[in-house]
Amino acid sequence: MTASSAEVDEEDFCRMCGWDGDRFWENGQPTAALCDSCGSESGTGDFGASPGSWDGVAQLHRFRGWWLGAGAEWSHPRSRPAEWDLFAQLANIPPPWREPVPAPVDRERRIAERERYGSLGTETVCRLCGLSGETYWHRGAPTGLRCPCCGAESGIDDLAVPGDWYSLAGIRALRGYWAARGGPWYLPEKRPVDWDVLRQFGNLPAEWR
Ligand SMILES: [Zn+2]
Ligand SMILES: [Zn+2]
Repeated sequence: MTASSAEVDEEDFCRMCGWDGDRFWENGQPTAALCDSCGSESGTGDFGASPGSWDGVAQLHRFRGWWLGAGAEWSHPRSRPAEWDLFAQLANIPPPWREPVPAPVDRERRIAERERYGSLGTETVCRLCGLSGETYWHRGAPTGLRCPCCGAESGIDDLAVPGDWYSLAGIRALRGYWAARGGPWYLPEKRPVDWDVLRQFGNLPAEWR
């Protein structure tokens, strides 16, 4: 138990997904409640998280990013509202758990480390948000494109080894952070009127989920 997590006494919203169906933390202690929506258990997936910095909350974003990329399935499907609004639910996540901005990117280092990561050859789907139709990677090399939807830059923000759980942490954390902010479009004029983020996540290749 860290001092900073004990400052938050009672929490009725899941830190990962914003579901309000339970008491997750009480008197600074986890209740071990299982979230009906994302399936995380308070005191397990969110243990050790602490407000105030990206590093303190990145694990929450990482779990959320994994859950969303995997289809955002409900662990207790009968609790799912008929007209479920994902972004409305995520907006319930208390600000201390979703507002610290990502740690600054060391571009030179990312570029130097690219060789250690991988690609699927030519990729026309954003590894973070699943938007399709742009060329993010061409024959194994990043195009440097900024995704019109999530704003991630290929070759900088999306480095990972395909299908490797640990190396996917950075992609998942940024996906979860972006979604918790309401999924803002980098180029808002490109946002379809009937945009469906969950359908878009469905485009993600299995290797990047
Ligand atoms: Zn949850
Ligand atoms: Zn994207």
